[in-house]
Amino acid sequence: MATTQAENAVDHVDPVNTVVTCSTISGGTVASTVPVGAVYAEGSALDWGASLVEGAVVLDENVAPNAPWSAVVSKGHVLTIVDVGGNQSGDCLLYNADDPEERYSVPDTLAWQGNAYVRTGTVLRSSEGRPLMTVVANEIDRQDTIGGACGKESNTLRYGHHVMFQHGCRENFLAEASRRGLGVRDLVSNLNWFMNVPVEADGALGIVDGMSAPGRRVAVRAETDVLVIVSNCPQMNNPCNDFNPTPLRMIVVDPHSPSGAADPASADDANTDDASPRSARDTSTPEAAA
Ligand SMILES: [Zn+2]
Repeated sequence: MATTQAENAVDHVDPVNTVVTCSTISGGTVASTVPVGAVYAEGSALDWGASLVEGAVVLDENVAPNAPWSAVVSKGHVLTIVDVGGNQSGDCLLYNADDPEERYSVPDTLAWQGNAYVRTGTVLRSSEGRPLMTVVANEIDRQDTIGGACGKESNTLRYGHHVMFQHGCRENFLAEASRRGLGVRDLVSNLNWFMNVPVEADGALGIVDGMSAPGRRVAVRAETDVLVIVSNCPQMNNPCNDFNPTPLRMIVVDPHSPSGAADPASADDANTDDASPRSARDTSTPEAAA
């Protein structure tokens, strides 16, 4: 969440007085349905979610708390993102997989639809104004694309010098982008799946307690081959992750093939260095995050 873009907006409304409600906090104790540090395991309490759209599963991966992830979603395929533990911000960048110079554009997306929120039917447009993905199903009221992404620089500015060693979404984006031949100049304003950034009556932005819940999902259909980069947000200095970073689950289906017809091993070019699913090789919590 919160980058320079949001940073400016939030700072304008006075960060000291920014409305931060957190209904899950009582007497300083976070009441969560998910144990702190919990990791996904099949059959466990975190084994929630399934694709929102019928079709053959071509990819099913877990993103550990605080970790980055990426994959190419083929044209026509549908990516379902599961907020496994609830109130977890999934910061997200999109690129035309064939020409990453064409990438997700917040102003094109919002201006085209004439609305500040991302909901079912929102076409996520590129810097060329073309559709990259379309939101085809959404289980929370609205998704955010204004709040930006956190990073160690903005964290330091907002929360103090002592947090400079915490990594943020920008660092996750950079780490994952580098695996795809992309770098700093390719980081642009992003989507925040499941993050609650209301536009208040006076036009100010809030970063407030999430409206999501364990197992809530959003589904986006690729309108061309799209490189999707996600940072499972490590932020612990505001309520965007309920002060308890939890896993995300990424499920890609081919709606044109009947369920069970696809071979998951042939899935796109997901960023697996080995044959193991991400959940099996990346379940640790980077110590810099908390
Ligand atoms: Zn973040």
